Amino acid sequence: MRFFLFLCLFPAIVSAQHPSAKRIRRYVHYLASDAMNGRGTGSPENASAAQYIENQFRRYGLKPLGTTGFRQSFTAKVRRVVVPDSLRPAENVIGFLDNGAPYTIVVGAHYDHLGMGRQGSSLDSLPQGKIHNGADDNASGVAGLLELARYYAGNRKKEPYNLLFMAFGAEELGLQGSRYFLNNPTLPLATLNFMVCMDMIGRYNPERGVGIGGYGTSDTWPAVFKGVASPIRFFTDRPGNGGSDNAAFYAKQIPVLFFHTGGHPDYHKPSDDPDTINVEAEKHILDLEITLLDRAMQQPKMVFTPVK
Ligand SMILES: [Zn+2]
Repeated sequence: MRFFLFLCLFPAIVSAQHPSAKRIRRYVHYLASDAMNGRGTGSPENASAAQYIENQFRRYGLKPLGTTGFRQSFTAKVRRVVVPDSLRPAENVIGFLDNGAPYTIVVGAHYDHLGMGRQGSSLDSLPQGKIHNGADDNASGVAGLLELARYYAGNRKKEPYNLLFMAFGAEELGLQGSRYFLNNPTLPLATLNFMVCMDMIGRYNPERGVGIGGYGTSDTWPAVFKGVASPIRFFTDRPGNGGSDNAAFYAKQIPVLFFHTGGHPDYHKPSDDPDTINVEAEKHILDLEITLLDRAMQQPKMVFTPVK
């Protein structure tokens, strides 16, 4: 009875779960374990990663907004290297938090990586047959996606915008999942307010800080960032047209923010391993994203500004 009363008095404490380093570690260690064989597009492990993400979305109570349930299937093409199986099945995983609002904010991260080094883009001298774990790239971003979905789905608040959580397939083959979605959207593109992309947010370096691209893609961003403080260092960068899936949204004239902790010697190598992820810093990056998202949701729908 007393416990019940406690639940009634403090529902926010029970349900609004801010990102946790422990969960981030768990997601990254699952997605980037050797058993996942690098989540190459078309592989069974890539499909397992999609299923893992769908299970979480389902658990949070998100509405499926793919074309078949949470999934949006497409055929990806390997173009950078010549392989017999250049056409590979791929999927986006899409969950919707419906707040009954007219406009929607997209939060996205790609979940594919380079697999066993047979789809191009590896920086290893002999990549074939080596597991490219992709812990930073981009299990770290998927962990962020899952934590933000969990937070907003569980906070019992009706935000003034809907949120669309998307795990993209085939990013490493050239933004193919995000482009496919934008050319075959499951809700009208005109209703999208802006897109937040996380790609490689696990290698926080206090000397550099976390970079936030896309600051110039709407004149509203300066008001959103004004006076925002964080225990971690961050800096903004005006362009939003490079680095990851945010570039595909930018090309459709949708404002973006792109979170990235920077390059490192393990980038696109088999050594991009789970133990190298700074989960404590990532937790603070995600808290910062929540602050920025909450502030952005106090603003009217953004107007896109191209960045030269
Ligand atoms: Zn990536």
